[in-house]
Amino acid sequence: MEVKQFQAESKRLLEMMINSIYTQREIFLRELISNASDAIDKIYYKALTDDNLVFDKDNYFVKISVDKDNRTLIVSDTGIGMTPEELEANLGVIAKSGSLAFKKETELKDGHDIIGQFGVGFYSAFMVADTVKVISRALGSDKAYAWESQGADGYTITEATKDSVGTDIYMKIKENTEDDNYDEFLEQYRLRAIIKKYSDFIKYPIKMEMTSSRPKEDAEGEFEEYTEEQTLNSMVPIWRRNRNELTDQDYTNFYNEKRYGFDQPLKHIHISADGAVVYRSILYIPGSIPFDFYSKEYEKGLELYSNGVLIMEKSSDLLPDYFSFVKGMVDSEDLSLNISREMLQHDRQLKLIAKNIKNRIKSTLQTMLKDERDNYLKFYESFGRQLKFGVYNDYGANKEELQDLLMFYSSKEEKLVTLAEYVERMPEEQKYIYYATGPSIERIARLPQTELVADKGYEILYLTEDIDEFAIKIIAAYKEKEFRSVSGGDLGIEQETQDEATEQANEENKELFEQMSSLLANKVKSVRVSKRLRSHPVCLTAEGEVTIEMEKVLSQMPD
Ligand code: ADP
Ligand code: MG
Repeated sequence: MEVKQFQAESKRLLEMMINSIYTQREIFLRELISNASDAIDKIYYKALTDDNLVFDKDNYFVKISVDKDNRTLIVSDTGIGMTPEELEANLGVIAKSGSLAFKKETELKDGHDIIGQFGVGFYSAFMVADTVKVISRALGSDKAYAWESQGADGYTITEATKDSVGTDIYMKIKENTEDDNYDEFLEQYRLRAIIKKYSDFIKYPIKMEMTSSRPKEDAEGEFEEYTEEQTLNSMVPIWRRNRNELTDQDYTNFYNEKRYGFDQPLKHIHISADGAVVYRSILYIPGSIPFDFYSKEYEKGLELYSNGVLIMEKSSDLLPDYFSFVKGMVDSEDLSLNISREMLQHDRQLKLIAKNIKNRIKSTLQTMLKDERDNYLKFYESFGRQLKFGVYNDYGANKEELQDLLMFYSSKEEKLVTLAEYVERMPEEQKYIYYATGPSIERIARLPQTELVADKGYEILYLTEDIDEFAIKIIAAYKEKEFRSVSGGDLGIEQETQDEATEQANEENKELFEQMSSLLANKVKSVRVSKRLRSHPVCLTAEGEVTIEMEKVLSQMPD
């Protein structure tokens, strides 16, 4: 028997790949199942143009079998199979993709369902197996052939027997080493989890014999083991289904199943975009704050699928930081993947999708604010802080995007209001949007500084969170109305301007004030008579850009 050598480049490439392309070993299963699905697709496409070939969906499936005693994992399919020439061409030459060639040959218009394109995925089997044996019988042939290899040393092709058309891939799973555990790839439940994770939406059934135990009939308290063939994948992804056919419960189930969250989501967004970039997406606004949301461990991002196959668990480029609470997934057939399918070649499509998604989230929130106030308030209670940080971060680059989504407590309405609502209610002569800062609504309401503004009948926004005033400063003005802190210098209110009487009072008490100033040296800049107060004897006011509350926050920050 002649042992054929991989071409020199192939040999190096194989070693390189086994060791470096993929970050996770478990993806070998994704690659083999994708190949199996492609092989079935090819029969399907052939049947479209060949009258002698009938494609009966029930006859096409992928099957996973485990032989623990022999450390063997088998992935079988009822697909198109390979002739010995194809075994040689597709598996003997690394980076040769029969599937890509098939797509080109048949000039398939809707053939982009076929996943393969790089001609390397198959070799990922060597990450977990010492020996890989492929037994294949091509469509239209009654002979089968076996391709066998132990990795970089080459491969053999020999005649073999196989009862039906298709391909079986036998992998002799590696022995455990001190650092690496391979046994997991012989465990039914682990295999099922990997398949669920990456290949749940492969459109043909992926079957496996699963062993479970059940109470024995006639023998109380005793259990017996039994095996049963299960279909592991859900096949039709919910995002490919029609919105009208889906209930809120379906969306909640998907949210819980995918572990985006264990709560009831507040809102879902189902997108089917067919514009400049084709993609589908389901997004969720969680019903409660994820437990780790405000910790360093929290990672934003959406699941990214290419044609139903999971590529990335958390694609952070798909979400701006200020919407980092959004959960969900994106599936697109327009992504150009790199060879490991873990990264994307160009991010143009991804950027387009991200922009699209951002706008959809924003408009959904705006609609919620308009039509479902209570829901919006619930959302805002959980994630309003994130929006305010969004306004403040990046030097205010996103303030236009976000300012209409902000809410603050209003002295007049005694509840949260938007800036638009505030400005809408402003009397004509009111120049500024007033705000006051403090640790709580109650404390702010008792601030002497609020008196003058409140007496004028003007509304004051009560800012209770550290971030609030920083965000307000970045916005600077809303609908051309500037913000003013009630404890700032000029409030633009007439009575406040120092008239003769106050000047006189300042003059008469000059000595007293000077004495007070020197007693409070370094604590205040000056002491003077104010018309701002009604029932309180004294108050502090700030003169520059930085207000008293901001000073407090800043002084607490580490240098
Ligand atoms: P890709 O899938 O990107 O083309 P692979 O290395 O995964 O690359 O596979 C190489 C080629 O081998 C495929 O393009 C296909 O022609 C062939 N092939 C692999 N697995 C199978 C299979 N189960 N049935 C038929 N052909 C297969
Ligand atoms: Mg492949």
